[in-house]
Amino acid sequence: MKVRVINLGCKVNSYESEYVISLFKNRGYEITDSLADIYIVNTCSVTNQSDAKSRKVINHIIRENKDAIIVVMGCMIEAHKDYDNPDVSIIIGNKDKSRVLELVEDYLKNHERKKLLYKDFDMEFEDMFISNMESHTRAFVKIQDGCENFCAYCIIPYTRGKCRSKDKDVILKEINTLVKNNYKEIVLTGIHTGHYGSDIETTFPELLKEICKIKGLERLRISSIEITELNDDFLDVLTREKKIVSHLHIPLQAGCDKILKDMNRKYLTPYFRDKLKVIREIRPDISITTDIIVGFPGETEEDFKDTLEFAREMEFAKIHVFPYSVREGTKAATMPNQVPEYIKKERVKRLIELSNELEIKYLEKFLNKEVEVLIETNKDNTSIGHTPNYLKVIIDGNLEPNTIVKVKITDRIDNSLKGSVCECEKQEMTI
Ligand code: SF4
Repeated sequence: MKVRVINLGCKVNSYESEYVISLFKNRGYEITDSLADIYIVNTCSVTNQSDAKSRKVINHIIRENKDAIIVVMGCMIEAHKDYDNPDVSIIIGNKDKSRVLELVEDYLKNHERKKLLYKDFDMEFEDMFISNMESHTRAFVKIQDGCENFCAYCIIPYTRGKCRSKDKDVILKEINTLVKNNYKEIVLTGIHTGHYGSDIETTFPELLKEICKIKGLERLRISSIEITELNDDFLDVLTREKKIVSHLHIPLQAGCDKILKDMNRKYLTPYFRDKLKVIREIRPDISITTDIIVGFPGETEEDFKDTLEFAREMEFAKIHVFPYSVREGTKAATMPNQVPEYIKKERVKRLIELSNELEIKYLEKFLNKEVEVLIETNKDNTSIGHTPNYLKVIIDGNLEPNTIVKVKITDRIDNSLKGSVCECEKQEMTI
């Protein structure tokens, strides 16, 4: 039978979908990207639009594949616990994703529709283990689930529940397996990744130290970390462990203290500024990228200008700009002074312009420098890969994917760099 897994949303969902794919594959099912007998949709609910997209995908599958078995799981179900659709065979939330194969095979036997949801999230980390990540050069490893920050705009603590961590030994075993399977770069993911360990008497820096000892692992990337988690232990690990790449994605969300307080973020701008200063003392060329929400309720033109100014001062390498969107069930949805859409649109444009300007400034720091590039693809005598600080580099020649090469940067093309393989490297390659 053919199985199609459709993933929506974040890197944590990608990891879980990859795990589900491996379950079916190992059992002898055929994985496909087209017409299938079994569809599994891993939904997202981070914004109202993500909800709408999840529903659209499900409805499309139902329309096109009347007789298929359809499984819907994930955040959209948790956010709308009353969701039901007679054409969907199995409905599960964010627990039991690892049981999908078993649930589908039960359904194949007895044709009984099932909906599995739980009242609370007081639960253990749901173990999953992958040894491959199809069509990816870097592999994601989910180490943590849940968030207890309750930022005013975010539904995730209600859909993912309490913070819980994966057992350290299982993580180390998983990464060892991935490295043996030739993955050079691992990306640690979670809902609140830096909170790892708080429930199992260890810490995120401790885990990082252990992972860095793995032989054969070249690069360790952290998908995202909160500024409040860059404590002394973390900074110490960042100083010592060169395998941790010089790229941190640290969500700022607003560069105005009034808005940060209203958002229920756990820091103010002076704290953020001081931390970035320390990080840059440790790693002067580090790429610091961020997320900023524009048009949060009550954001005035002055507040937005504070954000623009602060973002410029922080010299982010890139800003992911999100217009605030009302998310039912959150505190911010009921706040007064919602910002009109046309103002949000205009502010988004101004912040994207700043992001482009900062990105170009950051990229140009690397002109005429030598960088290491992990090759991802090659086509028509051009290869593409990323540096440890996640700069996209275009190189002449068909280089072997999944190799790391030294490249001299010669040019910038839009938001990428262009370079050629260093002479020393060329000689080594011809031996
Ligand atoms: S830290 Fe805030 S924004 Fe991030 S998942 Fe938790 S509540 Fe949502």
